[in-house]
Amino acid sequence: GRRLVVVGASLAGLRAVEAARKSGFDGSVVLIGAEPHLPYDRPPLSKAFLDGAGLPAFRTEEVLRDELGVRLVLGAPATALDTAARVVTAGEREFGYDALVIATGAAARTLPGTGGLTGVHTLRTRDDALAVRSALDDGARTVVVGAGFIGSEVASAARKRGLDVTIVEALPTPLVRAVGETMGRACGALHARNGTDLRCGTGVAAVEGDGRVERVRLTDGTVLPADLVVAGIGAVPATGWLAGAGLSLDDGVVCDETLFTGAPGVYAAGDVARWHNPAFGRHMRLEHWTSAAEQGATAARNALDPANAKPYSTVPYFWSDWYDSRIQFVGVPATEEVRVVDGDPGGDRFVALYREGDRLAGALTLNGQTQIMKYRALIMRGASWADGLEFADRRRSALE
Ligand code: FAD
Repeated sequence: GRRLVVVGASLAGLRAVEAARKSGFDGSVVLIGAEPHLPYDRPPLSKAFLDGAGLPAFRTEEVLRDELGVRLVLGAPATALDTAARVVTAGEREFGYDALVIATGAAARTLPGTGGLTGVHTLRTRDDALAVRSALDDGARTVVVGAGFIGSEVASAARKRGLDVTIVEALPTPLVRAVGETMGRACGALHARNGTDLRCGTGVAAVEGDGRVERVRLTDGTVLPADLVVAGIGAVPATGWLAGAGLSLDDGVVCDETLFTGAPGVYAAGDVARWHNPAFGRHMRLEHWTSAAEQGATAARNALDPANAKPYSTVPYFWSDWYDSRIQFVGVPATEEVRVVDGDPGGDRFVALYREGDRLAGALTLNGQTQIMKYRALIMRGASWADGLEFADRRRSALE
């Protein structure tokens, strides 16, 4: 029979094996994962899990093995890919494939020079989250490096417990790359309102301690006492194992609009994939839950039936939970014009739209759960900027 191999046993990898079976594929399916765990969900790691909630696996081992007929190879990082022989190597073991989905995601960037110190963490895996949670349980004075989404969520969790927390952000404004300057400032203001000390425009000079972290020295000379340091300074696509495989690597595995890598039978999905998104006519690599799940399914179906491969086209979407607020963003953070069309960016609820040329390119809401998907649909349809403004007007007057 034919053989599907999926490398990376997380969201995109799981959705790949599920979609393969759903499409009727009855050959063998192997799911190879570096972590020893069954696939689990990452967004709760920096949210409910830090507050004490459990972390259920997506699927039990029985369902994966018996119902989906998946051979699980866990705790076994793939180490090489031979696209000519169609073989994936994981240490001593080799797995031949007819179809391959690369779903190895991304790994957290670490703070340089903190190697030997305990109490310094990133937050990407279940094991990371356990360590951070137990430090919070101990009442750690917390320093978060990086005012991005994950760092901000960690700060929220620490504040919910009433702990002292400082966020150190090297750039003058938080989240500039993700949501632009004005909205970055508006989101950053949530920290001060909730008792987090956000310090922008200063870097970390050194993280110091004797075996375990004791203090963080900033480039502006400030010294912050710390029992826990969490670095939220971004993630890098996990492509190291693909060196020498002959795939095109450029901040991710470069793919066409069907997630095809160019090597026969090989597709990529999720945080590791940089694919051509027809909705925006450009290559993108997203680190968002929704697209990782959808790409996993699409990549598997396309890998198993390349003659009928379908493009994956999407308006990027992500959410993040800070304190009692939910931030949601759709589209791309175009910088030409950002306009607040509802609410007040200094308050607890607002909607902002992003313009690119004469097109509506993005939308951000704070506590605007009922609106955000409407803007996503508008952007997917290729709505003009004028359409976006008019839609916002009509909504506002309907609500008034
Ligand atoms: P990953 O989830 O990164 O999984 C890749 C897997 O592949 C990992 O298990 C890794 O160990 C494994 N792997 C790596 N190398 C190898 C190898 N050589 N061989 C075998 N296996 C390998 N997104 C949102 O939209 N909203 C949120 O609120 C949100 N919150 C988040 C909070 C946290 C703490 C984190 C870490 C992420 C969050 N995300 C959020 C992003 C979202 O979780 C990711 O987009 C999603 O997990 C990507 O799935 P993936 O399967 O592509 O990659």
